[in-house]
Amino acid sequence: MIGIDPLSESDEAVLIFILIILMVYIIVHYSNALDEMSNSIVGAIRKVIDNVGDAISIIGGRSGSMSSGRSGGRSSGRSGVAYYIHDSDIDHDFKRIAGKILETSPWKSHGIREVYSPDEAKITIRLADRKFMDDSYNKNPDKIEYYPGTNKQIRFSYTITSDTPEIYIDEVNWNGVPESGLSVDDYRIYVINHEMGHALGFDHVPCDATTAVNGVCPVMYQSTRGCGEFQCGIRPRPNDPVVYIPHMKK
Ligand SMILES: [Zn+2]
Repeated sequence: MIGIDPLSESDEAVLIFILIILMVYIIVHYSNALDEMSNSIVGAIRKVIDNVGDAISIIGGRSGSMSSGRSGGRSSGRSGVAYYIHDSDIDHDFKRIAGKILETSPWKSHGIREVYSPDEAKITIRLADRKFMDDSYNKNPDKIEYYPGTNKQIRFSYTITSDTPEIYIDEVNWNGVPESGLSVDDYRIYVINHEMGHALGFDHVPCDATTAVNGVCPVMYQSTRGCGEFQCGIRPRPNDPVVYIPHMKK
């Protein structure tokens, strides 16, 4: 005959222990699920806000050849192209100034938007000291160029172009390049817009009589070299010529 023996005292203690463990597990698990739920609701709200922002920026500026065709990284499926500007110990104003330049940049028509966590960013922007820039240049001694008739090296900021472009702004250039004929403020506007152009997939264009609108070079010309008889441009314009970086072209 099969019977159920009453639980001994020690069995009872084990059973209570197991029940407590089970309850703790349920409580912890359930609160995680709640957290996830609230996170996804917050995410959905933020997405709606982003989409509204993008719609406004598209209405605001998408026209002409520079803004048509490939639209930056918008094909990534996310709303807009998120960029993150790193704080800099070299210039504590870098993040604020670069942020302001991009906030008012015509590239906004390509859906660029600042985010405040590098994890959310597709494009990152840093101010890099000369040693860092030197180390990367010295790997390519063939790339060193000089201003004509001088022994002064032409130094460039640069963008590593990939699916997650990295922009490095040369700290010395950040404080002005006299050869460009631009004021420090205008050179900063130029270099941030130029490198953001690379990050969006645009390559260099020449500055000559056919490309300089009203005597002003396109922003994707390398103004750091100097603009000769023309004036260096500082922002992208709707009718600037467009050359895509081959491996960035989608
Ligand atoms: Zn460039």
